Amino acid sequence: MHDRVRFPLVLMLIAVPCGTHAAALDQASLNGATRLRDAALKSTEAYALVESLTTEVGPRFAGTPGDRAGVEWAERELDRLGFRNVRRMPVTVPRWVRGEAQLRIDDDTSRSLVAVALGGSVGTTDEGIRGDVVAFDDVAALQEADRADVEGRIIYLRKRMQRLRDGASYGDVVANRRDGPSAAAAKGAVALVIRSVGTDDARFAHTGSIQYRSDAPRIPAVAISNPDADMLDRLIASRKVPKLHLVSTSRELPPTSSANVIGEIPGTDRADEIVLLCGHLDSWDLGQGALDDGAGVAIAMAAAHLIAQMEPKPRRTVRVVLFANEEFGLSGSNAYRASLDEAALRNHAATLEADSGDGPVYELRSRVGPEQHSLVRQIQRVLAPIGVAPGDNEATGGADTRALLRAGIPVLGPRLDATRYFDHHHTANDTLDKVDPQRLNQSVAAFAVAAYLAAREDATFARVTAPVETD
Ligand SMILES: [Zn+2]
Repeated sequence: MHDRVRFPLVLMLIAVPCGTHAAALDQASLNGATRLRDAALKSTEAYALVESLTTEVGPRFAGTPGDRAGVEWAERELDRLGFRNVRRMPVTVPRWVRGEAQLRIDDDTSRSLVAVALGGSVGTTDEGIRGDVVAFDDVAALQEADRADVEGRIIYLRKRMQRLRDGASYGDVVANRRDGPSAAAAKGAVALVIRSVGTDDARFAHTGSIQYRSDAPRIPAVAISNPDADMLDRLIASRKVPKLHLVSTSRELPPTSSANVIGEIPGTDRADEIVLLCGHLDSWDLGQGALDDGAGVAIAMAAAHLIAQMEPKPRRTVRVVLFANEEFGLSGSNAYRASLDEAALRNHAATLEADSGDGPVYELRSRVGPEQHSLVRQIQRVLAPIGVAPGDNEATGGADTRALLRAGIPVLGPRLDATRYFDHHHTANDTLDKVDPQRLNQSVAAFAVAAYLAAREDATFARVTAPVETD
């Protein structure tokens, strides 16, 4: 049964007046996409999902009881919503325990700074570490420093993240967190303190992963809240050398098991081809994992569930993957990539990843071949009335779809407004009240329309060239 409706050429030309390629979508698909958009805006499903996940499960850090409860929640909810082929893909995850971090000004006042251990950091002895503070803007400045200025000191990296809609400043500052510990240790530092990689002025510190290099000692690393970093900046400006005292009980445990959770909306005549719609089920341990990435989980699940109810049906299979352990090593997406043989990989038509909060989506980026340029234009036109502008064709996807992009799988990238996201990201303050139902629904509409039209697209998706990665 072929459900596409053939339109006379003149109507096709009206639909795509300036296209160099023939329209690859029929009018029935575009009408379905418009109904899907409007249904998403009125739906209460996505908010109900993130409310349920944050209330019944809460934080879902890799390998914890919360992580296991999250996997069970996802499997149960996908079943309840009528997804097909609901299954777990086992994933081995590293296991790290935060413990308690105490950071004080080591003087008569013994004032506390609000600090959290960075993910993967080693702890200290019970007595802790005392040292003079030496400040640098960032890792690049630290790497220029003389060893004599770093050795035996506690290094403080003070560069501040800027508030931007596209969140681009995160990429500029996050090297302080990721690479700072080993860069400091390689010059003999005894501990690292960073200004939180976050845009808020609240007294919450932002955690996140570090990467120890094998050629440097492992030193403890913590982040302090922005107001505490401001105070440390003032102390450094006003006296010669402040001293700090750090005690941290962070430690590593043996690896354990978690799972990616997968559910599908089967396609019709192209069911073996996959449109992958994803977010990550894990979160950091401090908050409720509401914006990061409960919102993305809800966007992916609600969008696919709305698609399941739409006519005409998706021709390709819409596969929802809720990845394990994005935050602390991309274990889930690496396991997913490793599970694909060449044929299964080739069957992936396109990926869409939601992992920047609740939205709204303000732009549709892509990384597709010329055959899909008209598809991207048509998606954007359906979404233009809800504020989605055209984007470039240089999308890089999110962290969990990067391995698929490297293998040439095309990307559809509805871009989420990250203006407020980095106020709460990776903090104890990432809680349900930060999720706005209207923003969330607009994002569901954007992801649903993009995934649906990709699943209705007539032209075959060609492989694309992955971006050159600098790190
Ligand atoms: Zn995330």
